[in-house]
Amino acid sequence: MIRFLVCALVVLPLAASSVRAQHAPSVDRVSAQDGQIIVRPIRHATFVLQYKDLTIYVDPVGGAAAFAGIPKPDLILITDIHGDHANRQTVEAVRKPETIIICPQAVADLFSRRGSGPLPGVRVLNNDESIEVLGVRVTAIPMYNITPSRMRFHPKGRGNGYVVELGGKRIYISGDTEDIQEMRELKNIDLAFVCMNLPFTMTVEQAADAVLQFKPKIVYPYHYRGRGGMSDVAKFKRLVSTDPSIEVRLLRWYP
Ligand code: ZN
Repeated sequence: MIRFLVCALVVLPLAASSVRAQHAPSVDRVSAQDGQIIVRPIRHATFVLQYKDLTIYVDPVGGAAAFAGIPKPDLILITDIHGDHANRQTVEAVRKPETIIICPQAVADLFSRRGSGPLPGVRVLNNDESIEVLGVRVTAIPMYNITPSRMRFHPKGRGNGYVVELGGKRIYISGDTEDIQEMRELKNIDLAFVCMNLPFTMTVEQAADAVLQFKPKIVYPYHYRGRGGMSDVAKFKRLVSTDPSIEVRLLRWYP
């Protein structure tokens, strides 16, 4: 009996957390100017935004099968060169002839090396540059490490976070970064996708501290599986919930 109780005590918290993960929504909807913005997490850093007839894929990896049942993208945003963000085969498998692909120079170079010549539809956007395509304004925000032991993962200037202006909403996608000044200074963000994993990006405490400063209306923790497993997104939610003006939404990022 005692042995059973000990086992139950050990097992129950694990079971409860995995049940919570399974029941996290796999789609979210946010009211926008002229309809809804639909958010579909695919896995880790990869997700889809839909607004009216427009479909945007962010960091598509995992092959076409990962996007089964979802319209092909009009626009693809890619943040950085690592395999959890940039995969030329996946982009080629999901794109239409007219799809526009926005990425930093390092990703355009990577795709050129990985295939027979440049990928059609690529528009290079580097840090702090802005472009308007298909009625969507996209601005590249720096993303980089600032902790000395993590500097090698993401040097400043290589990758892009993005601010996407869509349906009257401003959507921030952090890419792989720490709590940099450029994030802290963001203004009027409606939806924010913020990474938090170790050792590659930042702790949940760093992420929460930055989010409490730039105050997005809704924040989605994403990219939170690290070398030691999943970051404690429930703790992130507790820390951020001290500001009732910010809503933390936990979605199913690891099906
Ligand atoms: Zn990553």
